[in-house]
Amino acid sequence: MTVAAIAALGLVVGSFLNVVVARLPHRRSLWGPRSACPACGAAIAWHDNIPVLSFVALRGRCRACEAPIAWRYPLIEALTAGTFALAHLVLGLSPALVPALLLLAALIAITFIDLEHELIPDAITLPGVVTGLVANVATGAVPWLDSVIGAIVAGGGFFAIIVASGGGMGGGDMKLGAMLGSFLGWQLTIVALFLAVVAGGGGALAVLSTGKKGRKDPIPFGPFLALGGAAALLWGRSLMAWYFDVFVS
Ligand SMILES: [Zn+2]
Repeated sequence: MTVAAIAALGLVVGSFLNVVVARLPHRRSLWGPRSACPACGAAIAWHDNIPVLSFVALRGRCRACEAPIAWRYPLIEALTAGTFALAHLVLGLSPALVPALLLLAALIAITFIDLEHELIPDAITLPGVVTGLVANVATGAVPWLDSVIGAIVAGGGFFAIIVASGGGMGGGDMKLGAMLGSFLGWQLTIVALFLAVVAGGGGALAVLSTGKKGRKDPIPFGPFLALGGAAALLWGRSLMAWYFDVFVS
């Protein structure tokens, strides 16, 4: 029952994340005007703006001009609903679910913005650093000191990489790292960075093997950081317990 409620919340949040992804990179207001068709400018009625269902009912086309609606819209809504439900199943209905859902929502918006624009907006990551710390203090999900150390270590680590590589990685990645550290605490952040590097390496090989991008073309690292962060949030503790069982004891 609560899983259905959390998934429904995910649909609504996903609908808002679509607005964030479409408007934030263009510095447009998130709060107005109402959503309109980018092709013909017709305002979208509330009954044509229901997450996932409206896309299916309209067969993916604008009611006024029949221009195709981007797949991104139902995809982000379904993805947010799915990850919210998953977080509830893994973490249970605990106070720790609050920072978890906030982090997942931020990571989904960041992933789609970075894929499309190759930038990670400060408008998400900088308030994210503060939100992670406050949400952890308020819910007790992560001790505040672990949260602060996580933000400093991850942000500082990326800063060192940027300096050492002469700009091989962006400042956006650094601030996203600090945000992950603040939400996850330093222990799970190490897991997140490890998973991100593994996924990023695999992703880079996959992209290179298609031949569409060369070795010099930049591949955004933000989506891999987001993936590593989400995986560490959900399964990091089990992964660490397994690791220490197998290799340390
Ligand atoms: Zn239209």
